[in-house]
Amino acid sequence: PNKSRVTVVGSGNWGSVAAKLIASNTIKLTSFHDEVRMWVFEEVLPSGEKLSEVINKTNENVKYLPGIKLGKNVVAVPDLEHAVRDANMLVFVTPHQFMEGICKRLIGKIRENAEAISLIKGMEVKMEGPCMISSLITQQLGINCCVLMGANIANEIAVEKFSEATVGYRENREIAEKWVRLFNTSYFMVSAVQDVEGVELCGTLKNVVAIAAGFVDGLEMGNNTKAAIMRIGLREMKAFSKLLFSSVKDSTFFESCGVADLITTCLGGRNRKCAEAFARNGGKRSFDELEAEILQGQKLQGVSTAKEVYEVLSHRGWLELFPLFTTVHEICIGRLPPTAIVEYSQS
Ligand code: NAD
Ligand code: 13P
Repeated sequence: PNKSRVTVVGSGNWGSVAAKLIASNTIKLTSFHDEVRMWVFEEVLPSGEKLSEVINKTNENVKYLPGIKLGKNVVAVPDLEHAVRDANMLVFVTPHQFMEGICKRLIGKIRENAEAISLIKGMEVKMEGPCMISSLITQQLGINCCVLMGANIANEIAVEKFSEATVGYRENREIAEKWVRLFNTSYFMVSAVQDVEGVELCGTLKNVVAIAAGFVDGLEMGNNTKAAIMRIGLREMKAFSKLLFSSVKDSTFFESCGVADLITTCLGGRNRKCAEAFARNGGKRSFDELEAEILQGQKLQGVSTAKEVYEVLSHRGWLELFPLFTTVHEICIGRLPPTAIVEYSQS
């Protein structure tokens, strides 16, 4: 009785790894049902088969995480309502641009006592101002939402290389500890901090800095320049977070979600990779085109986040306070050349 049922909403590269991590724990821990449902945005593969059916047949997400067994207790479910119906722990992990639509579809469909956690790095900008994805979930679905962010390149965790992660929570430490138990493994070390906004903003904003780091790589400017961009980026991350939420703690930037995620993403992430290609092509090929070609269906978050941050900055008259964030967006939209990253970002 009272066992928790977990559903993972999302099944991309990180979503699939999250399902694997969780499933390895639910099968061992008595407080959780073994089965983990994973909602799959259905698509037809070149073979003509449906992705969800192939996942259930092979126990692998052949498109977004090939070669990795998810665990027999992971069940792919293409119907969103069916996926969430019985769950009291909902793990949201989709590219951020799809969350508004997903939340709308979930209104009235989830259990009243459900708890949520968001692994999504990104935000929405509305007329009233910026809205973090965890707030979107809370506002639309009326449920509490923690976040989990960290230096977590999914393909490395998939093969069980050690990493750390940070759970951010608002008030209820017990709920945060339950999420830590669900995710923590010998190779995935999770700790919790009471700073949901700080953790989520770290994960979101570092994607903008990673775009800048990719430009530096594409221009072959070397390690010192990249480190300078990371330092300036980290400072803008902290300043922006604190201007939006005075509650954000300095210590959060020293957790895995802060400086560690910034470093790993600027070294080995997808945002970095696509931005490098963008700069090598002198900005002549669009990010949409490069994303489709390089990521094969996986999604970039940094380019849209740069736009969203820019909207907030221009609306509040803060553009000049954030030269790096501002320049990244202006390069992405072709207003400035990639070389502007070092000319305009200095502060
Ligand atoms: P991904 O980049 O692999 O994106 C592809 C997913 O989006 C697929 O599941 C696809 O079916 C789905 N999709 C495509 N169109 C859709 C639509 N219209 N509606 C709903 N879904 C659609 O996804 P991911 O890597 O799991 O990333 C999810 C979140 O996790 C992002 O915010 C990302 O920043 C974050 N994250 C990713 C990593 C990583 O290494 N991949 C690590 C940490 C955090
Ligand atoms: P990318 O989306 O740039 O690959 O970053 C992944 C990530 O968030 C690592 O923690």
